[in-house]
Amino acid sequence: MRAAYAVKLGGDAPLDNLEIGQRPLPEPGRGEVRVRVRAVTLNHHDYFTLRGIVGYPIQPPRILGCDAAGVVDAHGADVGQLAPPIGTDVVVYPVRFCGVCPACFGPDPMLCRRFTMLSDGDVEGSLAEYVVVPAQAAVPKPVSLDFAQAACMGVSFLTAYRMLFVKAALEPGHCVLVQGAGGGLATAAIQLASAAGCTVIVASRSEERRAAALRIGAHHAIESGKDAAKAVLRLTGGDGVDAVIESVGEATWGTSLRAVRQGGTVVVAGATAGSNPPADLSRIFWRQLRILGSTMGSMPEFVRLLRFVDERGIKPAVAASFDWGGIKIAFERLASGDHFGKLVVTID
Ligand SMILES: [Zn+2]
Repeated sequence: MRAAYAVKLGGDAPLDNLEIGQRPLPEPGRGEVRVRVRAVTLNHHDYFTLRGIVGYPIQPPRILGCDAAGVVDAHGADVGQLAPPIGTDVVVYPVRFCGVCPACFGPDPMLCRRFTMLSDGDVEGSLAEYVVVPAQAAVPKPVSLDFAQAACMGVSFLTAYRMLFVKAALEPGHCVLVQGAGGGLATAAIQLASAAGCTVIVASRSEERRAAALRIGAHHAIESGKDAAKAVLRLTGGDGVDAVIESVGEATWGTSLRAVRQGGTVVVAGATAGSNPPADLSRIFWRQLRILGSTMGSMPEFVRLLRFVDERGIKPAVAASFDWGGIKIAFERLASGDHFGKLVVTID
């Protein structure tokens, strides 16, 4: 089958590690299904893998890709009665748990000590014609989403959903600041928070992306930089926002701490612009801020996300779609960060 994979990791030119070619067709094992992939999106995780920044040892060649939507194509042995029948359109839940650590039996399996995502550890990714996943990870696709839109759910939308509604516990009427307006996570957060009845403020350096954020549901768009916190305070009657969705890091951290209300929450799920800003501890304790880390989301959260997106008619912002011939260009755009919404690869 055709696949996009890393032939090596790290080095000065990470995109040179990417190759498109033939890999063996995977066979579903016990309790697994094989999905004929129709769409995959690119995530920073894929670029980190090419750069050699991996949480688990990886032995190249390794197929990239950690989300997918497609059609169930084969069942392994003992998939059980709940497995979607062959021919079912599905969205892939991309997280795997070890199944034996205490967290796997606790209230939040995302605290599993050895959770992996598709393309981590010894698991092949989804940027291929076929991917094999546990039967329960193939979840029926909402009818309101096409395959490209459905592929956006697995990483970006799930991560945003957990940050907004689980970690920050936002409710209708709350106000949230989303840092950055271009990437998949920020656009997902804007669309989900807006649909949930929150007031959404977006901060971005780019005028074009600020305008695009307003078109997909943001209520206010402000310019990132030294005056951003003041702009947020003006928009919130001097109080600040209830929560900040932070994935930028060093460039925005100071604004995030000054723009959040007393006792408010900053949820962090990334640090694309550097991970060591000044901590500003006195502001944190004096204003009783909550700083929460967040990663991906649980299976029940994924199911609730799909239902919410389907019922509210949310259509994920797709920046561009690429076929096999365009994958390298898509990765260049991912690396440059110069896009609005998700970069999708459609696989025919
Ligand atoms: Zn575990």
